[in-house]
Order: sequence, then structure tokens, then C-alpha cells
Amino acid sequence: MIHSSPSCTDLFEPGLLRLEEAISKVLDQITPLSGSECISITDASHRVLARSIVSKINVPAHTNSAVDGYAIHHRDIPATDEKKTLTVIGEALAGKPCPEKLASGQAIRIMTGAILPTGSDTVLMQEHVKNIAANQILIDGKHRPGENIRLAGEDISQGETILSAGKLLLPADLGLIASIGQSEIAVKRKIHVGIVSTGNEILPQGTVHEPGKVYDSNRFSLIGALARLPVQVHDYGIIPDDPEQLKQVFLKAADHCDVVISSGGVSVGEADFAKIVLAELGNINFWKVAIKPGRPMAFGKIGDSIFFGLPGNPVAVMVTFYLFVLPALYRLAGTSENYHLATFAARTLEKLRKKPGRTEFQRGIMSRADNGQWQVRTTGKQGSGILKSMSLANCFIVLEHDRSHVAAGELVDVLPFACLP
Ligand code: AMP
Ligand code: MG
Repeated sequence: MIHSSPSCTDLFEPGLLRLEEAISKVLDQITPLSGSECISITDASHRVLARSIVSKINVPAHTNSAVDGYAIHHRDIPATDEKKTLTVIGEALAGKPCPEKLASGQAIRIMTGAILPTGSDTVLMQEHVKNIAANQILIDGKHRPGENIRLAGEDISQGETILSAGKLLLPADLGLIASIGQSEIAVKRKIHVGIVSTGNEILPQGTVHEPGKVYDSNRFSLIGALARLPVQVHDYGIIPDDPEQLKQVFLKAADHCDVVISSGGVSVGEADFAKIVLAELGNINFWKVAIKPGRPMAFGKIGDSIFFGLPGNPVAVMVTFYLFVLPALYRLAGTSENYHLATFAARTLEKLRKKPGRTEFQRGIMSRADNGQWQVRTTGKQGSGILKSMSLANCFIVLEHDRSHVAAGELVDVLPFACLP
């Protein structure tokens, strides 16, 4: 075989960047954006907290019952093998405290969430007592002092910092903020992300299909991948392989957006004008990263805007998005989380073809084996244009740089899609 220049099948090719090296080169260029805004917690899912939140109250505000049952004082719990009769003198409901004060030998009927009546310190579950008359219960000695109560401030205490600036807000965080009575919070401003597809052959949906053309899928995979991030998407559509048009759109997008993501046109093909235009426009590097799929990509800056020129192949776009764009967006967003893609070990059910010299992201379906351990198989054909492999998959099978063929039964790393935003 004659090679005029390095091809995709070359291994140990000079200038090939290792994955980890490429990721750190991206992150080195990123500093968190400034700017914040005040919004309602209803709109705050997946936004980044700009100011720490301190509680002005205790949660719960009062010591209360964790179950439906009877409030008593622990002194009335009999010895383990004895029983005792108590007189029920009142009722405490959630939101309707009992005004009575408990004395020795007495109990108060209490419901979950009701404030613990004065004089009581323990709640017996109703299933653990016997009603022997209209206002009399029989209890045994199998109880611990203080059982079934929730102490004032046991969740949040007054003056406590419940969330720190930089927290990426997930469902429980929104509930936690709501639980101290707050509804407005300061979050970092959204990152403006421009997306653009390039290629003469790329067709918009709703047009008649023509020979040699493909409908644009990349913009839509990217819009989906950006959905649960603190991002405002700006869609610049499809640009043909025309240097002048590419230049105009790249400049316009870079002017409006913090980050621009293009797909296609960055390899060494005849019509890869995006590469030529980008080389003119800004401070862009063209990388061959030792990964599969997704080797050629461009990264750098046009003006102040961060630019990612992702490969055109639909699977390669998604892989490079998760590997490079996602950590960059987390860093730009100023999250305190030390972002990393979580992988787990699973046993492969089939043999996997792999050449050493690049990190591979095969598409897998992981499941629990009968013995409870995780196992994985591929989705079948693994070409970087086979987008169905992503759709069928529930994880990436991550095969390390130096690894070669994997035999069935070996352990491999899997990265569940459920761990991706
Ligand atoms: P390129 O890197 O521009 O040579 O594109 C590589 C492959 O990906 C080609 O087969 C393109 O047709 C395909 N491709 C590029 N952009 C898109 C897109 N937006 N949607 C679907 N396929 C694409
Ligand atoms: Mg192209």
C-alpha cells in the first residue's frame, strides 16, 4: 500500500495526540465565565449556583413525629418483659399541634409530621401498641427512648451553608432550596453555544432527498446532548463547503457565542474547506487524536470564542462532544465539581477487535447477569457513520490506548450513558 500522507489506519503516527493529552490541552484554554442572574428555582435545573445559600431556619423547624402512633415520655416504657397501660389525652396532627401537656402515665395520639407535644420525647408506632379501650393503650418494653422522632434542625440547621457557589443544581438541590422557603437564587449566566453543520451534501429535514446527499443529523444529536447543561443553543444551520460562507458564519457565531461547535470539514478531504477557513480565522489547532471514532478535530479560538471543529461522522461527533466539549462546558460554567466521565468494569460477552495505539469507544449494551455482575455486548457494526449504534447502546465500551484484541469474558470499562448529562 502506498501512503502519500498518514491515513486513518496508521498507528503510532507522528503528531497523534493521546486522549488525555488532548483533553488537558482543551481544559488549559478554558477559564470560567463571569456573570450571573437571579432566577426562580423552577427554572434552575442544571444551572450553576453563583452564590452560596445559607439557611435562616432549622429544617425541620420543630421536633416532630416520623410515624403515625403515640407520643409518650420514655420514662413510661416498661421493663423489657413487662407491659403498661397509658391514657390517651389528646391528638396531634401535622399542622395542628396538641395543646395538652403530657404527664406521667399518659400518651398523645400523633400523626407523621406533627410537632412533638410538650412533655413527650418518644413516639411508638401505632402497629406496636394495643388499643384496649377508647382512650387507653397497652405498650410493651421493646422500645428505645427517643425512637421515631425527627429532631428540629436535623436536616438543616439555622446558619448552615446548604449549597456552595459552583454547585450544578440537580433535582434534590432544588427541593433543598425550596425547603428553607427560598424561591429565587443567583445562578451563573448561561453559556451561549453556537452549532453549525458543514458540507455540500448535508440536507435539511423537509427537503426532497437527492442522490449523494444526507440529512443533517449532527445538529440534532448536539442539541440533545446540550439539553441538560447550563447552555443557550444558537443554531446556525447548515453551511455548504464554500469558504466565503463558512467564514461569515464562523465569524458571526464567534461574535455572538462563548463556544462554537461545528461538525464536518476538518479532515484532509478535497472539500474540507472548514479547515482552510479556520486556519485563516483564528488561533485554531488541528489535531489528530488517538481515539476511535473521531480522530481529526479542530480546537482553538476565534476572537474570544472557544471553537470546536468536530468530525463529520455522526458517531464521531457525539464521542468527541462528550470527551472534549462537555468538560470544557463544565469548566466554563464554573462548576465546583471535578468533572470526569465515570466508568465501571463489566465482562464482555463477545470478543472485541481493537488495535493498540488509540482509545476506542465502542457502543455497548450493558445488563446484569444472573450472578448480579455487569456484562456487556456491542450493538453490532461499529462504523463511525452508524448512528443507530449510539441509539441502540446504553453505554460506551472504553478500550484503553494500549489494549489490543479483547477475548470474550475479559473485563472492560463501560461508561453508562445514564452517567452523561
Ligand atoms: P467530513 O468530515 O466533512 O468529511 O464528513 C465525514 C462524514 O460525515 C461524511 O460522510 C459526511 O457526509 C458525514 N457528515 C458530515 N456532517 C454531517 C451531518 N451534519 N449529518 C450527518 N452526516 C454528516
Ligand atoms: Mg464534509
